[in-house]
Amino acid sequence: MQDCIFCKIINGDFGTEFVYENEDAVVFKDINPKANTHLLVVPRIHVESLNELDDEALLGRLMMTVKKAAQKAGLSSYRTVINTGKDAGQEVFHLHIHILSGDIRL
Ligand code: 5GP
Ligand code: ZN
Repeated sequence: MQDCIFCKIINGDFGTEFVYENEDAVVFKDINPKANTHLLVVPRIHVESLNELDDEALLGRLMMTVKKAAQKAGLSSYRTVINTGKDAGQEVFHLHIHILSGDIRL
């Protein structure tokens, strides 16, 4: 999607380093970390939020991506967060899963 910051990141427009990636998603560091390690798992397809996602299999693979990205980052203990909608604090309307570990300040 043209005006979506995460679509631009996925497209490589900002040269963002991916700490992990696969067919379904890219994983990169949050620009404003709320923990010692704060990663974002972002599906390659543009879906506004969990409310717009119908693909159960993709959701399952995204959670497996969380696990693999955490393993690659050396994390054995971490919190996952999905903000859905403005009132929940969602700021970027392209579905993403936060991975937070160590001194979590949410
Ligand atoms: P939300 O509040 O939508 O669940 O989370 C959006 C997250 O994306 C925030 O934690 C914010 O810091 C992060 N973020 C917003 N813009 C950028 C960006 O351009 N690059 C990166 N790496 N993270 C971003
Ligand atoms: Zn997008």
